[in-house]
Amino acid sequence: MSKVIIIGAGGVGNVVAKKCAREPKVFSEILLASRTKSKCDAIEKEIGNNRLQTARVDADRVAELVDLFYNYKPDLVINAALPYQDLTIMEACLKCKAHYLDTANYEPKNEAKFEYKWQWDYNERFKNAGIMALLGCGFDPGVTGVYTAYALKHHFDEIHYLDIIDCNGGDHGKPFATNFNPEINIREITQKGKFWQSGTWHEIPPMSIHRPIDYPNIGIRESYLLYHEELESLVKNIPAIKRARFWMTFGEAYIHHLQVLQNVGMTSIEPIDYDGREIVPLQFLKAVLPEPSDLGENYSGETSIGCQIRGVKEDRVRNYYIWNNCKHQDAWKDVNGQGVSYTTGVPAMLGAKMMLTDKWMKPGVYNVEEFDPDPFMNEIGNYGLPWNEIVNGRLAFDDYDE
Ligand code: NDP
Repeated sequence: MSKVIIIGAGGVGNVVAKKCAREPKVFSEILLASRTKSKCDAIEKEIGNNRLQTARVDADRVAELVDLFYNYKPDLVINAALPYQDLTIMEACLKCKAHYLDTANYEPKNEAKFEYKWQWDYNERFKNAGIMALLGCGFDPGVTGVYTAYALKHHFDEIHYLDIIDCNGGDHGKPFATNFNPEINIREITQKGKFWQSGTWHEIPPMSIHRPIDYPNIGIRESYLLYHEELESLVKNIPAIKRARFWMTFGEAYIHHLQVLQNVGMTSIEPIDYDGREIVPLQFLKAVLPEPSDLGENYSGETSIGCQIRGVKEDRVRNYYIWNNCKHQDAWKDVNGQGVSYTTGVPAMLGAKMMLTDKWMKPGVYNVEEFDPDPFMNEIGNYGLPWNEIVNGRLAFDDYDE
């Protein structure tokens, strides 16, 4: 029996709220709070049965958060808002002694840069306060870290090569839209790519390395090497990894739109003067693009996200591939959301359940791969994200030095 506050009522917040509401034994009381209260109320109305309370909060303001937390007294706060709010929410959790969970690591608004350092620096303070923070518990980051920990526990003595491969083989029918918050999404894609090899990071120009990858039930899709945050924690927590990369698919139309928007300056985060008012072009672009939470109804096709791993077991080289495919229409049927919000929100709910049922609970700041993967892997299929694995069989692509 626990009280939880969910912050953010967008695509992911909708999924987290609905999934938590169906688990009254774990999440006995739920408050959904966001910047726009009407969005929380709309979700509350869909769920019904007085399962949710709602509130307005500006999560950029620690004082507002502290007021809310003092009044409600949550055991755990789930951050389904934006990475910009990670530190303010963590500060408020410290003041009110509430556990914390998020799905994306902190980035400052005025610099397109994300890294775990800012949040890992809270470790001692969380330990001393006797509370826990679980970072990056969506799908990627999130399930991809649990998959890697599961692979290490059950199939390898050492992991040497890790490729996280993420395909959205869906079609939302819009000329251009992003599957999660447009501002965060475009900042992620337009920054330099980066991968880990032989003990160091290698930077590449944005989207400059790409290759075809064969995704289960979807087929071959061109996939681009990006920097993604779970690479940072995984190479730290699993030091035997020699090479770690992240690949994501983009269609030609998406890349073409993005190039045009970049060329005309619409993806810039440098403020400009417009008609006597300062605006940030990327924030303006976000305002005219579809909301991630509005893409679900006519979304067809499916996502496929997984980890392709090579390492050694009892001195023999082993290949391993583990993945989930999620149909956008199944997500729509379950929670009136789309597949990318669903694959993020379901693991966030389950991570929160792991914490509140003491399966994953110790004071401090952690990434998912630092916990026993088994209880999470045993349950994730029941909540709509079943997984598949192949040992020494089909590979999505072959690119190994040994
Ligand atoms: P949306 O833009 O759909 O939703 C964001 C929500 O946060 C909105 O309800 C927004 O309010 C709210 N919000 C923004 N700023 C504040 C603030 N200052 N105070 C209170 N609420 C605020 O984004 P998504 O739901 O698609 O994404 C949510 C998060 O999930 C992002 O951090 C994203 O990076 C992460 N994510 C993680 C993935 C993973 O696999 N790990 C994959 C996909 C997303 P308003 O409605 O007023 O704008």
